[in-house]
Amino acid sequence: MIIEPLNILFNLIGNFKYKQYLNAIMVTEEELANMSPEQIQELQKQNCIFCHIISGRVASKKIYEDDKVLAILDINPSNPGHILLLTKEHYQIMPQIPDDIIAHVFMVAKSLSHACLRALNAEGTNIFIANGAPAGQKASHFMVHIIPRMKTDGLNMFNLAEKKVSDDVLEQMRTALKNKVNELFGIKKREPIDMDDKKQPSEEKKHVEKQKTKNNQDKKKQHEEKQENKEKPNLDDISSFLIKNEPGK
Ligand SMILES: [Zn+2]
Repeated sequence: MIIEPLNILFNLIGNFKYKQYLNAIMVTEEELANMSPEQIQELQKQNCIFCHIISGRVASKKIYEDDKVLAILDINPSNPGHILLLTKEHYQIMPQIPDDIIAHVFMVAKSLSHACLRALNAEGTNIFIANGAPAGQKASHFMVHIIPRMKTDGLNMFNLAEKKVSDDVLEQMRTALKNKVNELFGIKKREPIDMDDKKQPSEEKKHVEKQKTKNNQDKKKQHEEKQENKEKPNLDDISSFLIKNEPGK
């Protein structure tokens, strides 16, 4: 089980663009079989260029750093300003990452995306994770890509297909996913909302819904009025937050 990702790691090193910086430590399958999980993890770290970047042994163009994450510029960007946001701990894929770390990763990704819009005048950003080799993952270290986008940049990487599938397939996918999601979130009761969207709502229900919508609209209006009275947040604070936390400053 543990050997599998390590083999993937070694295969990845073969075509990895940072290869020139890395003196990979190779082991035989026999040696690997005799190693403890801790030793294997240590080997993975030693063979991971991003772990070397994080430890400072390999130079990088740092954008942001704190105790959990490091953001650097991609040396072969999809667009200028392409950021790689790395967890400081070596995780290969997203499911291995503890909730508090992944929550922090996305909080930082939000600010980095905002910095791209503000500092680089990007017209948009794409934020993506290649989770596993079939999804395009090339390095064994988990990362989030933050790519500044312009209407005229000519990138075509997010031209996603829009396949036709039958309702049966949609239902199969929904059942499979919902059951697993319920399990992951510890939701025991199954399918309370599933049947509702097939039925025509009764007149009584329609009325309740209407009333709910009206109440929500009223609440929203009140909330908006309150917000307007509050001081408007200075969006540039987010950039200064990043600068303040940069090490050595
Ligand atoms: Zn690593």
